[in-house]
Amino acid sequence: MPVLPLTRSTTLLAAGIALGWQLGRRRASAASDSRWFERSNELLAEASLDGWFVRLSSGWEDALGWTRDELMSRPFLEFVHPEDRAATVALRDRLDTAPGEVVDFENRYVTKDGGHRWLLWRARSDRERKYAVARDITERKQLEHERERLLEQVAALARTDDLTGLLNRRAWDEEVPKALAQARRAEYPLALALVDFDHFKQFNDAHGHQAGDDLLAEAARSWRAALRSTDTIARYGGEEFALLLPDCPAAEVATLLERFRAATPSDQTVSVGVAYWDGVEDARALAARADEALYAAKKTGRNRVVTAMG
Ligand code: GH3
Ligand code: MG
Ligand code: MG
Repeated sequence: MPVLPLTRSTTLLAAGIALGWQLGRRRASAASDSRWFERSNELLAEASLDGWFVRLSSGWEDALGWTRDELMSRPFLEFVHPEDRAATVALRDRLDTAPGEVVDFENRYVTKDGGHRWLLWRARSDRERKYAVARDITERKQLEHERERLLEQVAALARTDDLTGLLNRRAWDEEVPKALAQARRAEYPLALALVDFDHFKQFNDAHGHQAGDDLLAEAARSWRAALRSTDTIARYGGEEFALLLPDCPAAEVATLLERFRAATPSDQTVSVGVAYWDGVEDARALAARADEALYAAKKTGRNRVVTAMG
């Protein structure tokens, strides 16, 4: 094999070929990167610093229904759900002011069919571009939302009396201290009343337990309608109920309780013990005074309201 003498020109030629080969390889590799990026089902995005997508993988078209051209034809913020725009702007600014920092966030993107998808983003920017990868977490969000709704439902059930739909004793015990704190802050008077059906045993004996239950449920509806929306009514236990009347001076309490008693269904009567909060006592002491007044109402003939001594 003839050996080429290693002259300066052959060395340069060899170097030139090598360089050309390397450049070719680099170009081929860049083209392959670009193909990989663009054809990826992953949600890959590059955006300009002024807020436009400049390169998107094809996965975006399946995820949102927009073509990539559509997505690149407007600032990306316009595709962000209106409720998430302010937070997205703040994150975008953070990305731009801290190049290199990896920022994770979630937001909703509107889809072409008018819906939206939840995206979980991981993004970073340098001084020229933002680079991001997103994941569609809509199903997870829906499950989370459903779980929260169920938890709220369970919490509400735990505070509700089955028969009447009113607050139960547990909820009442939570509400009274809150109402006292509120009355203290707002400096208004507050009355607490305990209500007990008269001769309910006789009603049960005469009409049956189910009719007794029905009467309790009907009374609850009728009483609720007779009270102000700011009043609280709870089933205290059995055929006994409790009322909290906030911001209600004594004269108004008397009128309100007359209206309340008149709303009792089926010609039944109730006895009521009412106590006015003295501004310092706790929930238990206030209820104890109302209970004494109720006892006095029963003792003195029933079907009446007795006010506790201060
Ligand atoms: P009074 O209060 O006037 O002294 O007589 P009362 O007969 O109402 O006596 P008391 O309040 O002590 O008795 C409550 C009765 O109410 C006992 C029970 O049979 C009945 N009762 C309690 N809870 C329920 C309930 O959830 N459903 C029905 N149907 N009856 C109940
Ligand atoms: Mg009774
Ligand atoms: Mg009773």
